[in-house]
Amino acid sequence: MRKLAILLTAALLLFPALPANAEVVRLDSGVTVYTEQDALRLAREMSPGCPATEGETSPEATPEAVAAWVYDLTRVGVPEDFFAGLEVGLAPLESLGKDGDGAVTGRAEAGGKRFVVAACPVRRIETPVGTLILHAPGLWENTFLHELGHLVADVFLGARGYDWTGASEKGREYLKLRGYPGDKPLDARGQAALPWEERASEWFAEDFRVWAWEKVKGALTESRCAGPLMPVVREFFDRLFGVDRASEPGIQGD
Ligand SMILES: [Zn+2]
Repeated sequence: MRKLAILLTAALLLFPALPANAEVVRLDSGVTVYTEQDALRLAREMSPGCPATEGETSPEATPEAVAAWVYDLTRVGVPEDFFAGLEVGLAPLESLGKDGDGAVTGRAEAGGKRFVVAACPVRRIETPVGTLILHAPGLWENTFLHELGHLVADVFLGARGYDWTGASEKGREYLKLRGYPGDKPLDARGQAALPWEERASEWFAEDFRVWAWEKVKGALTESRCAGPLMPVVREFFDRLFGVDRASEPGIQGD
């Protein structure tokens, strides 16, 4: 017993500065990043019964990398206020459960300001002929931007989750510019019943991801559901974030 007490004391002396919430990092931008067990807790809160396989976290998926993205996104026009109070989970998960036939690598909360991404460098995909293990170290970044795109639709266009019936004029403008088929139902239930690649929210989240990737990285990437980003949609995002007015302080997209 005595020996154990000494060992415990030694451990405390070795790690005197380690706070109880070491896996939660608060960034200057007002973003809270959850990692490891805290990210798993958040993932399971948002996706109950989440059957994902735990794994190692990609060495690239760190609070510092999130901070760098937040900095870069504000630099290209996304208002700083948008990030205040945002909660991001970088979960050491291969996926966040099943959605139809595909593995879900992220999940955003409708009407909220939080999302989780599976930050494991490995993605396991069940196919009719067996399990495919995909090594995708950069996957978390694309998922990060995609999930952020869902929150952008929520905050800037009034499209809550899959429900586009209450979308603002700008939201309707986006659908029109993008050529979203007018015969699709826009309510949450109707949208959720559509295949993933036909849902308006997925079109938008992917377009935001592509726009942000191009703006920040200066490299091209493709939407996984809506085809190439047309210049008119690129301009839509620039206008949404008031990029042409970014030098004027206090002006933000509404
Ligand atoms: Zn999505």
